[in-house]
Amino acid sequence: MAVVAETAKRLYYDSAALEFDAVVTDIRLDSRDASSPDKSAGQLWQIALDRTAFYPEGGGQPWDTGVLVATARSGATLEVPVERVEEDEHGEVWHYVRKPLVEGTEVTGHVNATRRVDHEQQHSGQHLLSAVFLRELGAQTASFHLGSAFSTIDLALREGQDRLSDAELSRVEDAANEIVFEGRPFYTHWVQPEMAHLMLERGDLRKLPKREGPMRIVQMQGIEFNACGGTHVATTGSIGAITLRRIEKVRQGWRVEFCCGLRAVRAAREDHRLLGGIAKTLSVGAADVPERVESLLEKGKAAAKEVKKLQGELRRFEIAEDVKPA
Ligand SMILES: [Zn+2]
Repeated sequence: MAVVAETAKRLYYDSAALEFDAVVTDIRLDSRDASSPDKSAGQLWQIALDRTAFYPEGGGQPWDTGVLVATARSGATLEVPVERVEEDEHGEVWHYVRKPLVEGTEVTGHVNATRRVDHEQQHSGQHLLSAVFLRELGAQTASFHLGSAFSTIDLALREGQDRLSDAELSRVEDAANEIVFEGRPFYTHWVQPEMAHLMLERGDLRKLPKREGPMRIVQMQGIEFNACGGTHVATTGSIGAITLRRIEKVRQGWRVEFCCGLRAVRAAREDHRLLGGIAKTLSVGAADVPERVESLLEKGKAAAKEVKKLQGELRRFEIAEDVKPA
């Protein structure tokens, strides 16, 4: 295995391009896969490139997928799907594939745009929601998770506050969506550590990663600065609709579930479908579902009470029958 002198140039830091040319700089067999009993899919290889637009897992954001296309001298092309992408402790980016590509192979990388855009919407939406939760309620974001259906933010509430009301959640949701409509641009700045520490002292940044060298600061114009290595949309408008879902108490504070962009549209559609189904079963309009369910529950309770009463009467009747002289 070649010694990695320089790690891959990360094209996604400064460019939204999802197609790029690169050269394979290293390849190794994935050790975890070597012990895997399922060999039907082919062995798993890790490939390093001199430059890449593939985002590796990090900062709560999942990895990109896509393909690497290599062209043989004969002109034949080989399409190699990229299953996952990870960064190792040395900062190298490894692309996980099922076909080996030897060092020096020239490839064209194609990042799956649908998956990337979705991740950008959820991740940028999280930046925005975290900024609005802080501005409106003084709630700090402790952590973020981007899930396959919904994403979550764990909030540490302001001292003295022990819960979030529906009105507060609606206020945050409205304010975040208004900033979406404003279409504020995202900018990327590279700053020296001294400058980053100055921004932290001034309160422009809330925290800094433990990294050496220049730092990547992502600015949402007029809203916040954030030291972040993730991928973002070009303007807040591209986040699309933001919708807050349920909240729950967790050990370190409150977990708020949310979704952005097309996920928000799909979630609303699914909610509508479910509610429509229930309304149809109950033969009422959607708006009358809560009242009808409440009335059915009350009728059920009253019926259960009546059954219990009648069972008691029946038992007494049976005892009386038993003791009657023949
Ligand atoms: Zn970010």
